[in-house]
Amino acid sequence: MSETFDVAVIGAGCAGLCAAIQAGRAGAETVLIEKNGICGGTLTMCGINYPGIFNAWGKQVIGGIGWELVRKTLEETGAEIPNFSKEEMTCHWQHQIRTNPVVFAALADQALLDAGVSIRFHTMPGGIVRDGGLWKLTLCGKDGLYDLFARVVIDCSGDANAVKMAGYAVNQPESCQPGTLSVYAIGYEEDQLDFPALESAFNEAVKKGEVLPEDMGWAKGFNRGFFHGHGGNSNHICGINAADSAGRTRMEIAGRESILRIYRFLHRQPGLENLEFRFGSGECGVRETRTIVGEKTVTVEDYVSGRVYDDAICYGFYPVDLHDEKLGLDKRDLAPGVVPTVPLGALIPRKSEGFLAAGRILSSDRLANSALRVQAPCMAMGQAAGAAGALSAETGRNPIDLPIDDVRNLLLKHGAILP
Ligand SMILES: Cc1cc2nc3c(=O)[nH]c(=O)nc-3n(C[C@H](O)[C@H](O)[C@H](O)COP(=O)(O)OP(=O)(O)OC[C@H]3O[C@@H](n4cnc5c(N)ncnc54)[C@H](O)[C@@H]3O)c2cc1C
Repeated sequence: MSETFDVAVIGAGCAGLCAAIQAGRAGAETVLIEKNGICGGTLTMCGINYPGIFNAWGKQVIGGIGWELVRKTLEETGAEIPNFSKEEMTCHWQHQIRTNPVVFAALADQALLDAGVSIRFHTMPGGIVRDGGLWKLTLCGKDGLYDLFARVVIDCSGDANAVKMAGYAVNQPESCQPGTLSVYAIGYEEDQLDFPALESAFNEAVKKGEVLPEDMGWAKGFNRGFFHGHGGNSNHICGINAADSAGRTRMEIAGRESILRIYRFLHRQPGLENLEFRFGSGECGVRETRTIVGEKTVTVEDYVSGRVYDDAICYGFYPVDLHDEKLGLDKRDLAPGVVPTVPLGALIPRKSEGFLAAGRILSSDRLANSALRVQAPCMAMGQAAGAAGALSAETGRNPIDLPIDDVRNLLLKHGAILP
């Protein structure tokens, strides 16, 4: 006999784990399906453990479950709790919060279990179809296929895999932002390195075809930041859409080829003879693959004007931050005082039944997405989708038909900050 859940969440990244915890805490029987063996997605698997941004212009704008997990991680590891009263926001990276990924993941497990969530690691959906007013999910676990049923599905896969499987529309840009494969590099003294000599050797190696400019620094070629950041978030893996397993496979291989080229090059430079790549991220960090076609779509005009939607369920704060394969970074700071919002309609696939999506796949144009894809808004969107999913399962109403005040009140009860 197959199990039936109120809410099934696909993907346990920043969005998915907050969605599942929220749904569970709201009393929904919740299952969380994750292809890896750890929660956190990009935060834990890809070395991007500095979620941003919870504050804007001197006050906290994102709270709730995501902030609770980050704050508990900081407390557990004795790290400083950031001061949200700083009003200067142009150096946005100074507001990202370095968060220990190992402790974060362990605390996330505990919060999920405490919320009564059934966690299924090493599991992926292979089919999602409507069956008797429920969603039938055919899952692939290590021992093979099995079915379970859910009243509501929340896609937090980062790639809209579940939305696509269920037959709803998605947007897939012709070319998307590059991925990044991080390493942890040690075995050198940064202040002993001859950077002009390294740069000219690098340019020579590019000419000879031994390395690609984007192997070390985001389309612009040689990047001292590689050494300062110990190889974290320092390359671009270009020209691949990693939405499905075939694309993902190409990206992982291209990422490791890039790492090998740069390792071979650096190792023969003076001062880097003892260079070691101690640890490589479990998988390539993926910035962009697909977005859903939602009941509402956040455009860059909505975003930069700080439009407050009538169904706003959270804030998001980050500059527009599009990594262009050829031009490098297109960064546009928000005007003073502007704090954009996200509508629930951008988390509901158009004309769907019992379906939500959250995280970087929200319905948005490319520039708005380049800002809203970061971790703190993904956590807030995930929590909002979890609240709407729990209410939808409880009342039998489709997410689009829920009274928005009911969703907002549930979120407030669970510590979220609402526009
Ligand atoms: C290189 C890089 C640098 C970045 N820098 C920053 C930064 O400085 N600050 C910041 O805040 N954000 C940054 N971001 C953005 C941010 O990390 C991500 O956009 C955000 O974490 C996305 O969260 P998510 O939950 O939507 O998706 P993900 O983190 O991608 O999580 C998706 C989860 O779903 C799982 N999954 C995927 N497909 C399936 C499937 N079919 N079945 C089951 N499980 C599945 C994955 O394993 C994963 O756990 C960066 C991103 C990248 C790639």
